Amino acid sequence: MAARRARLAGASVLLLGGGGAASSRVSSVNTALAYAPEDTPARLFDDMYRAGGYVNDPRVIAAFADRIGDEILGLQQLGVPFHCSAGRLARRQAAGSTWTRAVYSLGMIGVDIARCLTRELENDDPTKYRRIGGGQLLQLHTADGRVVGGLAYSPRERRWLDIDARATILATGGGGQLFGRTTNARASRGIGYALALEAGAELVDMEFVSFEPFVSVGTGNRAGHDLPTTVLQEGARLLNGLGEEFLDTSTSPTKDIICRAMMREVSQGRGTPAGALLYDITGMDPDVVDRYVQIKEALRTHNVQPQQAQFEVMPAQHFLMGGVRIDAEAASTVPGLYAVGEVAGGAHGAHRLAACGGMEVVVGGAIAGDNATSYALAQRNRAPRPSFRSDPALAVPFSDHAAVLSVIRSTLDEACGVLRVGTDLQQAVDVLAEAGEAAADDRQLAVLRSVRVAQAIARGALMRQESRGDHFRLDFPERDDRRWLKNISVRLADDQLDISTGGRRSLATV
Ligand SMILES: Cc1cc2nc3c(=O)[nH]c(=O)nc-3n(C[C@H](O)[C@H](O)[C@H](O)COP(=O)(O)OP(=O)(O)OC[C@H]3O[C@@H](n4cnc5c(N)ncnc54)[C@H](O)[C@@H]3O)c2cc1C
Repeated sequence: MAARRARLAGASVLLLGGGGAASSRVSSVNTALAYAPEDTPARLFDDMYRAGGYVNDPRVIAAFADRIGDEILGLQQLGVPFHCSAGRLARRQAAGSTWTRAVYSLGMIGVDIARCLTRELENDDPTKYRRIGGGQLLQLHTADGRVVGGLAYSPRERRWLDIDARATILATGGGGQLFGRTTNARASRGIGYALALEAGAELVDMEFVSFEPFVSVGTGNRAGHDLPTTVLQEGARLLNGLGEEFLDTSTSPTKDIICRAMMREVSQGRGTPAGALLYDITGMDPDVVDRYVQIKEALRTHNVQPQQAQFEVMPAQHFLMGGVRIDAEAASTVPGLYAVGEVAGGAHGAHRLAACGGMEVVVGGAIAGDNATSYALAQRNRAPRPSFRSDPALAVPFSDHAAVLSVIRSTLDEACGVLRVGTDLQQAVDVLAEAGEAAADDRQLAVLRSVRVAQAIARGALMRQESRGDHFRLDFPERDDRRWLKNISVRLADDQLDISTGGRRSLATV
């Protein structure tokens, strides 16, 4: 989305990587189409701000909420096959939304959007648009306090690229692979957060991690299916091991509330023998079931008909709300660096509303593409930048860090899950500090990057002595607006993580 908008705005674009990791799993996208009085940007803003516990940035949410309707209609004109009913885009009610505002297709809408955008770009002028499929950004270059491009490696071509770019947009996704049980694909390694830190950018809200409630448990390929929450408004039920409904889902609770209720139910002995809960679709209209690719995949794997289907589910790590602090123009705190999608922080605060991840990449991509281009065009006459040397040590594959990764994963699973407590968090911070020192002594920068991202999550979670959104502290179970209506930010200073809190916000002024 950002690449296409940058091309439309007149920039030459080099796209690295590509191929949506999380984006290909997007099934519904929140929007505001003004079909009804409740279907407005203001109401979408309210839903996101409330879900985010009022620590998300109202300017960023407003920019997203105001533009998402037009961007979705623009995508429809481009040929994205949104499902329609009576001449309008059909919509579902995502968990936590007060209105049925999530648009979808009969396939995976994330795949459909990417396909249309890729087709547009591939038909573009090859002297103005180039894609290096699988190309990995491994370092951001800075000069005079600005990001001026980066160093990339193309595994397919086995060559390094020293990229001179007037503006750089990070869209590297999340870091779910730093957790053991996650819905995230292998590409979600969290490197973008580390690259931004090294370039001098600020991260924000890293302590806030969200969990997907309905992820199937079991053995082999029966495990790990993420099942949609939107069906709670379409006839599906959430049951405990005794067959009882234990959560009022009629009010469309947010996913953090669902996850905590699930953990409580199991810890109080009312789970299934496998320690899970039941996602029951036996009462759903088969035509509605038919509109969900993920449910059809799970039915096929479990070899069961919808009328008999009860899947055992438990929460798994899903999304990092934190990321590169951006403003309403998607600009980071370092000139020349923009961020969009899960690597960006600010839009979601303490909890990302369901169906607002896809919304963020669509509208945030448009905003980043437009503004990065304006910035780049204004830099046209800047002095030539120095050249930078490649460093083969940066290209060590993530899988080579198996031993450290397993420490990071078990540490984050244990301490930074749905329910958190100070003693576990302190232990996690100590373990990660040791792992970080070892990686620094051995000059293993690639390992150190993963450790730093994990440290930002654990140290932020230890610092925030309250509960808000997805961050639930058993030792501080209440929301504390007096002390904690503020953000925790992370920077790198002298190669050390510097974690601090900003000023308290005022609810009255927003
Ligand atoms: C299972 C699942 C289901 C979801 N369902 C929904 C939904 O229905 N609705 C919704 O709104 N949200 C949903 N989300 C959330 C949503 O998918 C994400 O918020 C969004 O797709 C993130 O997009 P992104 O572009 O930031 O990251 P991604 O789509 O993950 O893309 C990141 C890309 O960056 C590449 N990359 C990473 N590092 C580098 C590097 N160093 N150099 C070059 N390239 C790099 C990766 O290979 C990848 O292609 C879901 C998420 C998951 C995991």
